[in-house]
Amino acid sequence: KSGFVSIIGRPNVGKSTFLNHVIGQKIAIMSDKPQTTRNKVQGVLTKENSQIIFIDTPGIHKPKHKLGDFMMKVAQNTLKEVDLVLFMINAEEGYGRGDEFIIERLKTIQTPVFLVVNKIDQIHPDKLLLLIEQYKELYPFKEIIPISALEGTNTTRLVEQIKSYL
Ligand code: GDP
Ligand code: MG
Repeated sequence: KSGFVSIIGRPNVGKSTFLNHVIGQKIAIMSDKPQTTRNKVQGVLTKENSQIIFIDTPGIHKPKHKLGDFMMKVAQNTLKEVDLVLFMINAEEGYGRGDEFIIERLKTIQTPVFLVVNKIDQIHPDKLLLLIEQYKELYPFKEIIPISALEGTNTTRLVEQIKSYL
């Protein structure tokens, strides 16, 4: 199995940490230039019978100027073309205005979307359940997967779930 996966989410939710964890090299940080229009390969995870190509999708946020508007369109086209979108949120921060904007964009594409709730090492399990309930109301996520990218909790499970959608 092989396919393209785009990881989106507000800054600092842990996208690079997750990639570094699953790929095991510090490559995500190297290509982590914000405000670029080209979509780059951020990392490739190759296993015996599968390959996941992670694509960097900058610009999927509320545009502040005309150029931002163009980049938004580029980002949105990328989301249409990949096999799967991972929408990553920070469990600690919860729902924010940036999320609302991204969810509106997700409603315009057909690509399956997972909600990845990161930094679960920082939140009480009861609070995590409430957060998940809240997000379930907002969008029909194909899967909701709580992880800690830092500690590696559930990251293997997430990779397995990704594979089943490729
Ligand atoms: P990005 O902007 O989405 O790529 O976020 P980064 O991967 O750069 O992470 C932002 C910050 O959050 C860094 O200080 C990470 O160490 C921290 N971080 C990422 N994942 C976790 C996690 O699962 N738990 C905790 N406690 N911190 C995390
Ligand atoms: Mg990053």
